[in-house]
Amino acid sequence: MKDITTISGVIKSDLCISCGACAAYKPELITLRENKKKGLLEPVVKKLTAIDEVDVMNICPGKGYDIHKLSSKKFGIDTYSSYELGLYRQLGVGFANSDRVMEKASSGGLMTAIAYYLLDKKIVDGVIVTKIIPGDKKIGPRTKTFIATNLEGLLEAQGSKYCPVPSLDIRTVVEDFDGQLAFVGTPCQIAGLELLKEQQLGWANKIIFTIGNFCGGFRDFRETDKIIERAGFRPEKVENFTYRGGGQPGRMYIQSGEKVKELNYPDYARATGFIKHKRCRYCIDATGELADISFGDAWIEKYLKSGQGWSIFVARSLMATDVINGMFADKQIYFENIGENEIIASQIGNISTKKYRQGARNKLAQLFNEAVPDFNEVNKKFEGSILFELKVLATHKIFYFLEILGLYKFISKLLKRYPQDM
Ligand SMILES: Cc1cc2nc3c(=O)[nH]c(=O)nc-3n(C[C@H](O)[C@H](O)[C@H](O)COP(=O)(O)OP(=O)(O)OC[C@H]3O[C@@H](n4cnc5c(N)ncnc54)[C@H](O)[C@@H]3O)c2cc1C
Ligand code: SF4
Ligand code: SF4
Repeated sequence: MKDITTISGVIKSDLCISCGACAAYKPELITLRENKKKGLLEPVVKKLTAIDEVDVMNICPGKGYDIHKLSSKKFGIDTYSSYELGLYRQLGVGFANSDRVMEKASSGGLMTAIAYYLLDKKIVDGVIVTKIIPGDKKIGPRTKTFIATNLEGLLEAQGSKYCPVPSLDIRTVVEDFDGQLAFVGTPCQIAGLELLKEQQLGWANKIIFTIGNFCGGFRDFRETDKIIERAGFRPEKVENFTYRGGGQPGRMYIQSGEKVKELNYPDYARATGFIKHKRCRYCIDATGELADISFGDAWIEKYLKSGQGWSIFVARSLMATDVINGMFADKQIYFENIGENEIIASQIGNISTKKYRQGARNKLAQLFNEAVPDFNEVNKKFEGSILFELKVLATHKIFYFLEILGLYKFISKLLKRYPQDM
């Protein structure tokens, strides 16, 4: 089995999620660079001593981390505990009472609304968010993480980015910022941040509140660039791009000069044979279990039919419940209560792949001698079978190899799998 006790081992085992925590931790020794063959931002490591190597692995979320130890330390044991959702204090489903926030929201705009509330009430002085930047001479559209200090900045960053995001490679920006911060990111990025905070770093401790998204994973930049190409654009010429926005479920938006194309979400994911990043397939965090508060889509019939985007929230810390209830009292948002089982049912695809089927998937990985991340999680519900996981893996690998061989588009059209709006 591949060794994942070093950064290079994590990279070789395809468990690096491009989060940038290592580059922020040891900036003099590690920088991130895009590896075009893998479509990821990977650490380039100068010579590390054995001590540095052990030290830096403490903060790498790619290799896994003790999720329950970290969450109980952060939220205490006086919270509700759910195998599927993690520790929590309050659950709800709602939307932002602001047309500006809702215009480009992924679902109910609650992530942006809470970020704005934190700024408006001066609970924090800035919020770390991630926007898309246009393609340039060599590459297609990519992301930039920055500190937003007003609503305009937050709106610029709206929309989910289904790609590698080095949002923790922000040490200098945070060090130079005068004030306290909130952070918006995926569950693994928030885990990386918690691991950095465990090291008692002054700059990381300026981040006092985390806002997470539910997460089904991402595919690498080869997918993004190939979809753009298949939609008839040159990635490096794209001026405006979003993976998602404009209502629920929303659409991908691509613009270059006069030319504009919109592609239905999530159908556009079938436009290429690229598959979900390996680390995402072995991830067990569906709902941002280490975030103060996390948000997902309300895939529930009555909300989907309402003609309005709705986000589910899972508030885990006391600060999060204070904030979300304060927003409701101030009429910044509307929400109603929702039960744990309703959330699980609405997220069942993601929860079953991340929680129930993970045991069988891990056993299959062991058979192939594959390194997988370790979360020290005991499988409480075991569904699926090794054979089923093998079939799923084989199907994905077939699509992947067809893509690499240049045959995917032709075959997926024959199979009527290719998106009709491409
Ligand atoms: C990779 C990924 C996978 C997801 N998978 C699921 C899923 O399986 N099920 C589900 O219900 N929901 C999923 N979500 C969450 C969902 O897409 C919305 O984020 C959520 O419904 C909240 O919507 P909103 O309207 O409140 O957010 P918005 O108002 O659109 O705000 C989104 C905020 O998240 C930040 N952000 C977006 N993408 C990233 C990123 N990759 N890294 C760091 N910050 C980012 C933005 O900067 C912005 O501040 C996923 C999100 C991502 C990024
Ligand atoms: S810390 Fe993040 S960027 Fe660095 S190796 Fe680990 S997963 Fe990759
Ligand atoms: S699926 Fe897991 S590893 Fe992948 S982006 Fe989401 S939280 Fe990170």
